[in-house]
Amino acid sequence: MRKNLITALSTAVAGLVLLTACGSDREYRPRPKTEEKKLIILGIDGMDPVLVKRYIKEGRLPNIAKMIDGGSFLDLQTTDPPQSPVAWSAFITGLDLDGHGIYDFVHRDPLHLESYLSTSKPVPEETFLGVIPNGGGGHKLLRGGEAFWQRLEKEDVGATMVKIPANFPPAKTDANESMSGMGTPDMLGTYGTFQMITDEPEWKDKHVSAGEIHMVDFSKSDAVQTVLAGPGAEAAVQISIDREKEMALIDVEGEKVLLTAGEWSGWTPVDFGVGLTGSAATHGMVRFHLRGVSPFRLYVSPVNADPSDSDLHITEPPSWSEDMARSIGRFYTQGMAEDTKALVGGVLSDDEFLEQANLVFEERIKMMHHELDTYEGGLLFFYFSSIDQQSHMYYGSMESDALSQYAKYAHVIPELYERMDKVVGDALAKAGDTPVVIMSDHGFAPWTWKVNLNTWLAQQGYLSVHSQGETGKGILGHIDWENTQAYALGLNQLFLNLEGREAHGVVPQEEAAVVMQRIKRDLESWRYAETGQRVVTKAMPAPAGQYVDRAPDLIVGYNRGFRSSDSSAMGAVGNEAIERNEGHWNGDHCMYAGHVPGVLISSKPLGITEASLVDFAPTVLNYFGITPPEGMKGKLLFKSDL
Ligand SMILES: [Zn+2]
Repeated sequence: MRKNLITALSTAVAGLVLLTACGSDREYRPRPKTEEKKLIILGIDGMDPVLVKRYIKEGRLPNIAKMIDGGSFLDLQTTDPPQSPVAWSAFITGLDLDGHGIYDFVHRDPLHLESYLSTSKPVPEETFLGVIPNGGGGHKLLRGGEAFWQRLEKEDVGATMVKIPANFPPAKTDANESMSGMGTPDMLGTYGTFQMITDEPEWKDKHVSAGEIHMVDFSKSDAVQTVLAGPGAEAAVQISIDREKEMALIDVEGEKVLLTAGEWSGWTPVDFGVGLTGSAATHGMVRFHLRGVSPFRLYVSPVNADPSDSDLHITEPPSWSEDMARSIGRFYTQGMAEDTKALVGGVLSDDEFLEQANLVFEERIKMMHHELDTYEGGLLFFYFSSIDQQSHMYYGSMESDALSQYAKYAHVIPELYERMDKVVGDALAKAGDTPVVIMSDHGFAPWTWKVNLNTWLAQQGYLSVHSQGETGKGILGHIDWENTQAYALGLNQLFLNLEGREAHGVVPQEEAAVVMQRIKRDLESWRYAETGQRVVTKAMPAPAGQYVDRAPDLIVGYNRGFRSSDSSAMGAVGNEAIERNEGHWNGDHCMYAGHVPGVLISSKPLGITEASLVDFAPTVLNYFGITPPEGMKGKLLFKSDL
């Protein structure tokens, strides 16, 4: 990074008065004079305070325990809903939902009643006369508000943000660096579409969500041809096998990879659209895993953007991804790289998934060391996805009522925390005197019960569906809007079918408050008959601000152990309002925020008793002597001078 910024920082004029802003009683710190201020933040998605306490007691986390001994450890209040895109947007901007405009992983367009991913949208390529490509295209970040490292840059303070979530495409900067994390698509424009090449007949007509199966036939020859799906074009693949040696030679558009059964390949660059006239080939890269030769089973990772030659805008400045790839080699660029979808779809076994998740972790550790070794000052933020993604798969394994196929993996999470502690120890050693803060966007809970909120709304008479066979367009086409007052979409959102806003709204504006109150009361008194537990801890009106077309009317904060089913999140209406979750995705956090706080761990004492995610942006600005802008929520986390 940042030599130019460090120089600028050292010559910056220090403010000598304590500034007060926003009419609050926050006391702001004057700009540092000539010294280079430093701060390292490790963002560990999903790190849970209850587990941290438990594992410290068991002696599993010696480095974190030592850090807390000399510093601070608090629960970190997360956002409602405690979904990663919402929570990280609050971290990035210091704003509530009505300021950053991200309410859920999915939003809905009230006029067309269609859903779209909340943090970014593809922008169609501009064309000349509607035909000839004229540049443009790409993606647009839908998060509102200024990222705090953009403000740092304006004040000549250096910052490097590695794999920061909810920042794709990365917010524009000239000198400060950011690399997009969660929310970054693969080259197919999805959040991760794996492929599998196989000759096993059982896969022939099987539908695998989030994956593509290519059937091949080795019965006549030990060499076959097939394709890999890519962006707008396919890549030709030739495979030769040696059954005796259990080996396969894979040739993808001239790149050759030789694998023995059980082996993972390194990153293999793939050009899609080679030989097609009129446009250049698109660069991507994949990792192969040869699961077996007879039967033949080859897992192919989602096609990631190649950081060494990226067609996707994943870093600011754009050249930084190439610099990084030159320093540490190619690395996963898709947002959440752990292939939970392949595990859930049965394309990777648990052991194979854990190997793949380990590859992601190893890459990230290498990247962290590279960043720490070149770090000279300003802010360094570094993000880890491992605990979040593996907790989704294995948190429920630690529950006493875990299904037996999951219970045998109860060791995964404690071992992962131990491993993370070692990484923290390495970071602390390299940080020296630099203050280090660990934070997570939320904690974790078991996901035992699937809630079909739309089914419940139908049972309560708030929602009607068309009689069979009579459906309209889109994912909500089955809803009979004339007889529907409310519907659910996304993991925690409930919308009124509001007149003047929704395409077929029936709830008059003047009755909206009453209807909402009634639904809130009914939700909060809903008990699951089987266990007597409350299903919803709290249903809260969502602040809309400038985002009236995005904001839900209620945010549904589920009780611990309860979460919306995936199908209800996409608008489906089923038979049962609540079902036992028997799936592999058995840990989650999309419940009431009070059930799943994150962590704030500091190597220096903070002298505070409560902390919230929105406090970070103003705290970091203040730490570097910059007055947080008006409207930024949150208080200062560093009371003492670190
Ligand atoms: Zn998560």
